[in-house]
Amino acid sequence: MNVGFIGLGVMGKPMAGHLVDAGHHVVVFNRSRAKVDELEARGAVGATSPAHVGEKADVVITMLPDSPEVEEVLFGPAGVTTTLRPGSLVIDCSTISPDAAVAIGARLAEKDIAFVDAPVSGGEAGAIAGALAVMMGGDEDAVRRAATVLDAVAATSVHVGPVGAGQLVKAANQMLVAGNIALVGEAVTLLQRTGVDVDAALAVLGGGLAASKVLEAKAPKMLARDFAPGFRIDLHYKDLKIALAAAEQARIAVPLTGIITQLVQALRSAGDGGLDHSALIKALERLSGADASGNRKEVESCQQH
Ligand code: NAD
Repeated sequence: MNVGFIGLGVMGKPMAGHLVDAGHHVVVFNRSRAKVDELEARGAVGATSPAHVGEKADVVITMLPDSPEVEEVLFGPAGVTTTLRPGSLVIDCSTISPDAAVAIGARLAEKDIAFVDAPVSGGEAGAIAGALAVMMGGDEDAVRRAATVLDAVAATSVHVGPVGAGQLVKAANQMLVAGNIALVGEAVTLLQRTGVDVDAALAVLGGGLAASKVLEAKAPKMLARDFAPGFRIDLHYKDLKIALAAAEQARIAVPLTGIITQLVQALRSAGDGGLDHSALIKALERLSGADASGNRKEVESCQQH
């Protein structure tokens, strides 16, 4: 199939690579050229604009930071829809608001272009392994076509409802992930503060009900103080705001999501928005006036008294 791919960041680059490996003719575009060159070396064809991608593709996938970028790439003056043929399909794998997804779907429908919102979960590791979970919103036929292409990047893909439903499920996903990371951060901070053997503690915690993919993936990053993204704090903040807005529209209270959004905001205020979301532990440590080394000092001073 002729597949266009726009947005070759942490997630998009490995995803586009899997599409090449699966035998599709892949045309790629990214704001910065270096990523395009890397994909060309892997067998993709580089494009000079989103319009150029639209010219060459029957299916276009976008993997961009947020809705303004998706809208610009699709509907801007050099956008995909200036050239994409009627009957084609756009799949947006970015995480954006459900309302924006519905509006984009309606604008594409005016041009007789089908649309599926298909946000993903699984992080950079899942993208590299081609083992993402994909939550698809759209009509039956469009989703069936999207699933054929997304097969190359997904371990699980599920049709969850009409356009926008994928983004609602992704909002729930981001609430669960952020909450889990925050509690892993609190637990690790407690273990360090009290001088427990943290590696031994994590081994046993990972064998019981507290086990989770977040515990497995993010606790080692916290212990190593390796906060290279991964998934940037700024992007998770965007997602939590989407979740809060969706909850407000649904007239439900999500107090834990509210608290965690504030912790994430605290990190952004401290200039940490570009770090991986495992850096949530830093916000929690600051609340207790210590970082990993400070914890050790506090243990010693506790023992002396
Ligand atoms: P990223 O910032 O690493 O990548 C975004 C890419 O889009 C960059 O290469 C950038 O140059 C390109 N770009 C931005 N604006 C553009 C434009 N106007 N035209 C062309 N290219 C443009 O982000 P990411 O981590 O890959 O995330 C992408 C999306 O996927 C986001 O919505 C994010 O919330 C979501 N997501 C990320 C992860 C993760 O772990 N990183 C996991 C699941 C979902």
